[in-house]
Amino acid sequence: MDPNQKIVDAAIEQLRSRWPGARDSVAAAALMLEGGDILTSVSFDNYNAAATLCAETGAVAQAYTLGKAVIASACVTAGTAEGTYQVLAPCGICQERLAIWGPEVLAAVPGSAGGSAWEMRTLRELNPFYWATSFTPNGQWPSVAEHGE
Ligand SMILES: [Zn+2]
Repeated sequence: MDPNQKIVDAAIEQLRSRWPGARDSVAAAALMLEGGDILTSVSFDNYNAAATLCAETGAVAQAYTLGKAVIASACVTAGTAEGTYQVLAPCGICQERLAIWGPEVLAAVPGSAGGSAWEMRTLRELNPFYWATSFTPNGQWPSVAEHGE
């Protein structure tokens, strides 16, 4: 199976498992690590919107805790019709979270065909003028170590 399809399927399965029959407003994410393992997590909603967390956050923190690089990411939300799902592009903050693993990390984004179609794009494609390159020697994408400095 296409590894990218595995990631999207894992996110859908996580969403189904956490919120069976959900429609809209909740999300789940899956990250593929170097070596092929997949981590999943869900959006954390709260009455105080400032306390909410994107679906990717839990898996990003877990990958970092494990010291493993993320190579690809997918986030899905339930569609308005039962049993349908839609890929969500990572928000700007999640793109920043993923950026620690470099510009070649793949992120699922809605496909140009619309509906439930999706495709993968690198972070470099999503951020052709990544701001942090202004602060590194030679303008390269910051390394994991440089992100942490
Ligand atoms: Zn986000």
